[in-house]
Amino acid sequence: MGYNVAIDGPAGAGKSTIAKLVAKEKGYIYVDTGAMYRALAIHFLKKNISAENVEQIVLACADADVTIAYEDGVQQVYLNGENVTGRLRGEEVGNMASRTSSIPQVREKLLELQRGLAREQDVIMDGRDIGTNILPDADVKIYLTASVDTRAKRRFDELKEKGQDCDFEAIKEDIKERDARDMNREIAPLKKAEDAILVDSSEMTIDQVVETICGYCRA
Ligand code: C5P
Repeated sequence: MGYNVAIDGPAGAGKSTIAKLVAKEKGYIYVDTGAMYRALAIHFLKKNISAENVEQIVLACADADVTIAYEDGVQQVYLNGENVTGRLRGEEVGNMASRTSSIPQVREKLLELQRGLAREQDVIMDGRDIGTNILPDADVKIYLTASVDTRAKRRFDELKEKGQDCDFEAIKEDIKERDARDMNREIAPLKKAEDAILVDSSEMTIDQVVETICGYCRA
């Protein structure tokens, strides 16, 4: 069994930024599970299936093969043999992933892939249900959060930096909707595991969060 660090929390809390830095500092492999839900979302979008059409989504899961590889330590996601890593971050894909991640068969599809990655190697894995469901025996569990306003502001700044037109209130609403979907779904909802350490990054710098989390991990 590898050394496992689970990091869960709502959208925009900075999980991937922080997890990547902790992975570098500690020599762990960073596993981004949201990317796997996004890869399946690309599959559904390619097939023109709407997120509401659960029957078709479930059927489409059967012919989706999501695999992970690492190139220079960076996670690459393959969908039916095609590297889709560069297309994962789009809004449409994120929205589809958020809507379809509540479907049990979608989650079931990715469960073994995630557990298998953590079995053999030292990983820091980020997601929504890692500490509660995927790796209940993880060595360290972190619940990383920040206020809705902070998360919306970070997203707003990120999009502005990329030169994209965006509206703060719309981003905030979208974040609230995603939180509600993640927290209220029946299967594997987002919640802090009882034994997880709560880290609220609202008033913290990235370096402070990384240092805090590294402090909980073995030297
Ligand atoms: O973290 P990211 O935004 O890339 O995740 C995309 C979507 O996948 C999220 O909106 C969330 O609903 C879902 N997800 C999940 N469980 C995980 C990781 C992501 O339900 N472990």
